[in-house]
Amino acid sequence: MKYMMAIDAGTTSARCILFDHSGQVHTMAQREIAVSFPKEGWVEQDAREIWETQLAVCRDALERANLTGADIAAIGIANQRETTVVWDRRTGEPIGPAIVWQCRRTAQRADALKQRGLEPMIRQKTGLIIDAYFSATKLQWMLEQVEGARERAERGELLFGTVETWLIWNLTGGAVHCTEYSNAARTMLFNIHTLDWDEDILRELNIPRAMLPRPVPSSGVMAETNLFGARIPIAGAAGDQQAALFGQNCFAPGEAKNTYGTGCFLLMNTGDQPVESKNGLLTTIAWGIDGTVSYALEGSVFVAGAAIQWLRDELGLIRTSAESETLACSVESTGGVYLVPAFVGLGAPYWDPYARGTLVGMTRGTGRAHIVRAALESLAYQTADVLTAMQNDAGIALQSLKVDGGASRNNFLMQFQGDVIGVPIVRPQCVETTALGAAYLAGLAVRYWTDTGEIRRNTTIDRTFLPEMTAEKRLSLLTDWHRAVQCAGGWAAPQKEK
Ligand code: ADP
Repeated sequence: MKYMMAIDAGTTSARCILFDHSGQVHTMAQREIAVSFPKEGWVEQDAREIWETQLAVCRDALERANLTGADIAAIGIANQRETTVVWDRRTGEPIGPAIVWQCRRTAQRADALKQRGLEPMIRQKTGLIIDAYFSATKLQWMLEQVEGARERAERGELLFGTVETWLIWNLTGGAVHCTEYSNAARTMLFNIHTLDWDEDILRELNIPRAMLPRPVPSSGVMAETNLFGARIPIAGAAGDQQAALFGQNCFAPGEAKNTYGTGCFLLMNTGDQPVESKNGLLTTIAWGIDGTVSYALEGSVFVAGAAIQWLRDELGLIRTSAESETLACSVESTGGVYLVPAFVGLGAPYWDPYARGTLVGMTRGTGRAHIVRAALESLAYQTADVLTAMQNDAGIALQSLKVDGGASRNNFLMQFQGDVIGVPIVRPQCVETTALGAAYLAGLAVRYWTDTGEIRRNTTIDRTFLPEMTAEKRLSLLTDWHRAVQCAGGWAAPQKEK
């Protein structure tokens, strides 16, 4: 029997997972990757290290499984998105550190693009809001700050890539320079309607086209590697969140997933039409497969699991994240307490950078358990707000929410989530949804799996949480939550002088 090799190129670790035909993890290997913070707000990685570590974990996995390249049907890649690499076409040497998605060094550059009035055009073409998060301003920065970079790029000597592009280029010994649609969609240079680099944006941002990779669909043989002792097709790729959406089987419009990590990442499949958001959500490519493209709406919650870490590390209310569940269940409600963990402002649908963390509704009887419970509930409320915005934008009603990520293990939170959004929460058994999505995209291309129906049948559900709350109760809780959000709003805004 052959296996699928999934490369999961994350921000803090490189992982390789070998999946069998039933979608079960056969072997996993993992190594950490260093992240450096050379200045306030700067986040960098060594692109060479990303590649070498990734190659090493792929070899680790094969060795551990006692398999060779000949046992691998195909490779699929899921990767940290937006991170930007530029390298020399001839030597393969990066011209500087990879600028990681979290890096804020180009924030002013992004502001300058907004001031030039480019937002409506960029939003319409790319589905994104202008932000330093996306690759475009990072690439501009490298072209301007690395000596000689612009001239070399214009002479065609330099190549640009997001992480999947960089890995594929290295896996093929420099033979293939391509990018996958969902990754390209995060560069802020890619037209999500025409599926090509956008000439107007390239001109406005002064990006030489010669350095850009060739866009390819997410599922399909895009290259071959012979680094593992046999020729293996690289047949699938997607940005990590989109890969998780695929791994969670959200193949139809209205299907959505939420990853509960440090923050939350929500994506909803909107089918073959991109939906423009009126609530500040991003419009993005989910994947391209079989000649069609699926689009998604994306929203994130800045502080989710991080609020639980805060209870543990700053307040000392709990010793482990898992303990939050026992405590939350020890009381019947929060007793009217709401925590709005707007520690870094609020994202969609509020977009209030001046909001700050707020705890309201306390009485003399409020105890530790109430506050812990309020913190867990805040993850569910914030998710509910993003989902409401998505459903309004898309005009599609959510059928169920698929969940993954560290905090999705919390049964109290999952039940409460189902209660406040009024649809079932589905938690799969395989929590490696990102890697699995990459494996599925590649496996479909080489007919390792025949169709998405077969993939759906592969999926085992760990637990479904059916909503139990009355509509009345839900409405009253959400109304009070929104009052609490108002209390948090604008708190840190610059005060006008009296
Ligand atoms: P990331 O990939 O963002 O590092 P993970 O998916 O590993 O995140 O999830 C870790 C986060 O989930 C942490 O913020 C942690 O506080 C939270 N978490 C983990 N287990 C639980 C739990 N049982 N209940 C609530 N939160 C949890």
